[in-house]
Amino acid sequence: MNLRLDGKIAVITAAGAGIGRATASAYRQAGADVWATDINAEALVSLKTEHPDINISVLDVTDGNAIADFARSFEGIDILFNCAGYVPGGGILECEENEWDFAFNINVKSCYLMCKAFIPGMLAKGSGSIINMSSVASSIKGVPNRFCYGATKAAVIGITKAIAAEYAGRGIRCNAICPGTVDTPSLRERLSKFDNPEQARKEFIARQPMGRLGTPEEIAALALYLASDASAYTTGAEHIIDGGWTV
Ligand code: NAD
Repeated sequence: MNLRLDGKIAVITAAGAGIGRATASAYRQAGADVWATDINAEALVSLKTEHPDINISVLDVTDGNAIADFARSFEGIDILFNCAGYVPGGGILECEENEWDFAFNINVKSCYLMCKAFIPGMLAKGSGSIINMSSVASSIKGVPNRFCYGATKAAVIGITKAIAAEYAGRGIRCNAICPGTVDTPSLRERLSKFDNPEQARKEFIARQPMGRLGTPEEIAALALYLASDASAYTTGAEHIIDGGWTV
């Protein structure tokens, strides 16, 4: 199985922390020329300190002009991992319009803008792998307290399937990753807001049949497979990686 990415150029959003950061490291170790982007410059500098051979660039995925400028600096890339996302909490009655718009901008519009900016270069090359970050909380599973989040991540699956169908015959694959609960800085920050964070963590773990949360490295391993030629025959699929939560 060829999981090497030698000679391939990979762009990752939200690569400063969590799953995106672990994936930047995995792609680099597999030989890719990695462009790690994030809104947080400090996080990117710390990634660069750990991996001096990863390229870093500040990029806000809600800024269409910045995305277009960034894409123009490449002739064409081979791998695009749209990892950026935000987790709005609450049910429909707690969801305010400004939060709905904010979440759809980061989670959904960013995928549209990034894909639109980078697909022309992939078409010119005749190949490319796009990986979009969804969640099992989407069209796969309804989760209480995740009304707006689930709606955004279902939309990401829709984007993924539309792109996959459009370009399957022209060398571009597009897949979605659908994790369960993963132990990342943003999850820890969300847990810290509970009255009893330790109890909240126990409850998150209790819903996982494997009795533990996922790790960013485990999700990065799937992102590596989907970026590599080992996954050449998969496109338009939701790849569930959730420790058995949806079984
Ligand atoms: P994380 O909090 O660990 O990292 C998020 C990164 O996103 C940070 O470095 C932050 O600076 C960056 N970011 C925030 N806003 C940005 C913007 N506008 N432009 C560019 N970068 C921005 O996150 P994570 O938990 O690893 O989540 C990554 C993705 O995985 C998200 O799309 C999330 O919805 C999805 N996901 C996470 C889990 C989980 O349990 N952690 C489960 C399913 C899906």
